[in-house]
Amino acid sequence: MSQTAPLEVPCPTCHKKVAWSEANVHRPFCSERCKLIDLGAWADGSHRIAGEPAMDETEIDEMVLRAERDAGLEP
Ligand SMILES: [Zn+2]
Repeated sequence: MSQTAPLEVPCPTCHKKVAWSEANVHRPFCSERCKLIDLGAWADGSHRIAGEPAMDETEIDEMVLRAERDAGLEP
């Protein structure tokens, strides 16, 4: 099999195109930040229906901090 065209998936959090490869340990997310945001949103029960206004940066940062605390990670 050739690997000329790596599969691309949209990041569930920010919808940026992400190459689905073993090099991307955060797949299907583009980054750890987006992964934590998504996990935090689910844990929080605040996953929004489409059409809700986008969160601003402050809310996202708080969500990431909360997710990191829940995961027992040091910042
Ligand atoms: Zn992303």
